[in-house]
Amino acid sequence: MPTGIYIRTEKYRKEVGEKQWKKDDELYKVDTKSGCWNFTGSLLKSGYGQIQRNKKSIYIHRYFYEKYKKVVPQGYELDHLCKNKKCVNPLHLEAVTHYENCLRGSATKLTEEIVQNMRNLYKSGWKKIVLARLFKISRAHVGRIIEGKSWSFS
Ligand SMILES: [Zn+2]
Repeated sequence: MPTGIYIRTEKYRKEVGEKQWKKDDELYKVDTKSGCWNFTGSLLKSGYGQIQRNKKSIYIHRYFYEKYKKVVPQGYELDHLCKNKKCVNPLHLEAVTHYENCLRGSATKLTEEIVQNMRNLYKSGWKKIVLARLFKISRAHVGRIIEGKSWSFS
């Protein structure tokens, strides 16, 4: 099997209305600042790129993740650590459970006030696991916030 996939590019769709064979490394452009591999094909309304493989639709970032890393386990989804939906760089993707992904999603809504509040509660003896439940984020994320790795303001 050659590596590469059939993909409908915008240009080709207009000209021929057919699928065009593209090599994998022709499917994205590397952003040298962020390190993101930005997919150059057309995107879904959701902002993600999608391809057809074995008569199934698959997200382009998933395709690259599975090509370079490993198969995404059943029940897991890919989280874009760079928050760039167009990005297909496997190093910017992490396989997480839907639950964890939701937690991360809601975690972005944390404000400075809430974070400060969380740190104060921790100092006064609250356990991380309790804070995680209270603020609906993962315990690991609570740890990062308390250690100042996320939200590092004084
Ligand atoms: Zn990226």
